[in-house]
Amino acid sequence: MIELTGMTCAELTAWAKENGYPSFRGKQIFRWIHHGADFDEMTNLPLSMREKLKEEAIAQPVSIRLHRTSRLDGTVKFLYALQDGNCVEGVLMRYKYGISLCISTQVGCRMGCRFCASTLDGLVRNLTAGEMLGEILQANLFLRDEKQTVSHVVLMGSGEPLDNYDNVIRFLRLMKEEEGIHLSLRNISLSTCGIVPRMKQLAEEGLPVTLCVSLHAPNDEIRKVTMPIANRYAIGDILAACDEYAEKTGRRIIFEYALTDGLNAGEKEAEALAALLRGRLCHVNLIPLNEVKERHLKGVTEDTVSRFMKTLENRHISVTRRREMGDDIEGACGQLRRKTLQSEAEEGVHA
Ligand code: SAH
Repeated sequence: MIELTGMTCAELTAWAKENGYPSFRGKQIFRWIHHGADFDEMTNLPLSMREKLKEEAIAQPVSIRLHRTSRLDGTVKFLYALQDGNCVEGVLMRYKYGISLCISTQVGCRMGCRFCASTLDGLVRNLTAGEMLGEILQANLFLRDEKQTVSHVVLMGSGEPLDNYDNVIRFLRLMKEEEGIHLSLRNISLSTCGIVPRMKQLAEEGLPVTLCVSLHAPNDEIRKVTMPIANRYAIGDILAACDEYAEKTGRRIIFEYALTDGLNAGEKEAEALAALLRGRLCHVNLIPLNEVKERHLKGVTEDTVSRFMKTLENRHISVTRRREMGDDIEGACGQLRRKTLQSEAEEGVHA
């Protein structure tokens, strides 16, 4: 089976031609795919072609296996099913400026961050570009009755996007295709734990997405406690790569900082963070740590968040606290997937 979803319009046109179809069929298929259609719905293709395509190709490699909607704020958490039985999560959030979808880039993750549920069982496999697009297409179908579509995408679900570099770049290029869903790269954010050589490479791609960096510590010593990647790349090198990215793209860097009790959330750490970021084109996003059952790290009180925030503000660092959305629907990364897989294992059902 060939997955057509990750192909550009030009590639699909060439594919159609090579397979004995008129080349304009490629463009038709491309448009349909980006509307979330499967072959059966591609009504302007001859029936015989549709039947043949169904046997040899895949248009929609992702489906929604289950979804939960928050009664608090309308946030929707998706558990997406992939063709091989694996599943990944996505989260749809409603803002004043539009609808933002957080998508996964890998099944599992091999970065091993101690606070994160997605990495508990390591990396299973990379997602293809078509599967990443598929996550958006399914969300758009979900939103169809509301006459809405996803306007912003964040690569912040399970996986490390820069550890699946080629597929992620292909996905970003697909977003630029005029005949496709055509999202502005300005509305796309990519979050990394800080793989320095790949950050530098990304700066050269001419794909000016917003770069988010999971910093979570004001120095390497604290960072190494929760993030194994800190043994490979020092904060100094990450910041140098960030400066380069900001300079090349003109975009400010967003630093994510999960406040963890007794580790990185004190006054001393807030001051150290402010000193580290002083004078940089950046913004800090504070995240109160979402406690994961399997991990023994503790979240912080509202008071600690406010104090940390104040210290940064007093030192003129742009900072916001991440709104906690969908608190009633398994908020933390990877938790819905884990829970579903675990309860299936207990019931003896195979995923
Ligand atoms: N691998 C990428 C993107 C996926 S994680 C990265 O490291 O940035 C998305 C964000 O959620 C990261 O900032 C990550 O550190 C954070 N995160 C993961 N688990 C969390 C938890 N339990 N509580 C708070 N933030 C968490």
